[in-house]
Amino acid sequence: MKKDICSFDYKELTEEIGAMGEQPFRSRQIYEWLHVKLADSFDEMTNLSKGLREKLSGTYQISPIELVERQISKADPTEKFLFRLWDGNMIESVLMRHSYGNSVCVSSQAGCRMGCRFCASAIGGFLRNLTPSEMLRQIYRIQKITGERVSHVVVMGTGEPLDNYENFVRFIRMLSDDRGLNISQRNITASTCGIVPNIRRLASEGFQITLALSLHGSSQEKRKKLMPVAKKYELQEVLEACDEYFLKTGRRVTFEYSLIAGVNDRPQDARELTEILKPRNCHLNLIPVNPVRERDYRKPDRKNAAVFKNKLEKSGINVTIRRERGSDIDGACGQLRRRYTAADGRTR
Ligand code: SAH
Repeated sequence: MKKDICSFDYKELTEEIGAMGEQPFRSRQIYEWLHVKLADSFDEMTNLSKGLREKLSGTYQISPIELVERQISKADPTEKFLFRLWDGNMIESVLMRHSYGNSVCVSSQAGCRMGCRFCASAIGGFLRNLTPSEMLRQIYRIQKITGERVSHVVVMGTGEPLDNYENFVRFIRMLSDDRGLNISQRNITASTCGIVPNIRRLASEGFQITLALSLHGSSQEKRKKLMPVAKKYELQEVLEACDEYFLKTGRRVTFEYSLIAGVNDRPQDARELTEILKPRNCHLNLIPVNPVRERDYRKPDRKNAAVFKNKLEKSGINVTIRRERGSDIDGACGQLRRRYTAADGRTR
């Protein structure tokens, strides 16, 4: 299989193109075609000679990411995109329009091996890691399809970014590179279920991205029931790794908490959450759980969610309830993809 030219960062591309005997300015042009002009083929690179274009396409490919379905919400300015990768794997991405700009939610893996009980992405299991190209090109495709600029990125789609660490870090570098899309790292958020060693590694990358930590349970015991990863990394270690992230980057950590009726939305949960979060400079995002067809978890009604939030707020916690987006378009994480994939996660 030919190498995907879109996964090379600027330095590597320069080396590759140099090794072909080409001038350095050629790599600048090619990088710009790939990451600014968002070319999908070498033929589009009209300021390169036909000979060079042929040489490039003989050695490299720009891995296709083909639009299979686009769902436009009637409820709010949100769209979902289902893409097919070169090997038939399907991934989904979401575009959300906000007053401050457009944000895209990208997937980091095809499937996921973390197995969180309430998450649709866990159901078909893990298929493979996405390459930097496949993460970047979700955003590129959406910009091209809609003709709108994307200013914010959240890595909160299918997959666990810190379980695909090298590709994820390269993706962040390339996404925020001023020779590429140049998205400010402060406008990028990555969400993790809590892979402790890689949270610590990420803290030392010198990034300014926001770390979002999926908490979902207010004690080690409760967390373990919802998230198998908690068996490997205990709540206390996870919290300490988050503290290190804040200390090293100065970026306040966001904690995510999916509210599930009767499971983690009781007064005692709010009390325990307060104890955990009170000493920390952080933000808490409550997400009323998106019901997943294969699971029987329900979200609390609006009133109960508000009561839960108010309890925390009164205790001085910086908390918001995430506004529901695209509830009419296979809203829950990974559900659009689920509809298209058989048990093995590939195209039906
Ligand atoms: N693997 C990463 C990112 C993927 S999911 C992580 O675990 O953080 C992004 C967020 O959506 C996570 O907080 C995840 O727990 C949450 N989530 C997954 N399924 C959900 C559902 N059905 N309802 C509400 N939130 C969900």
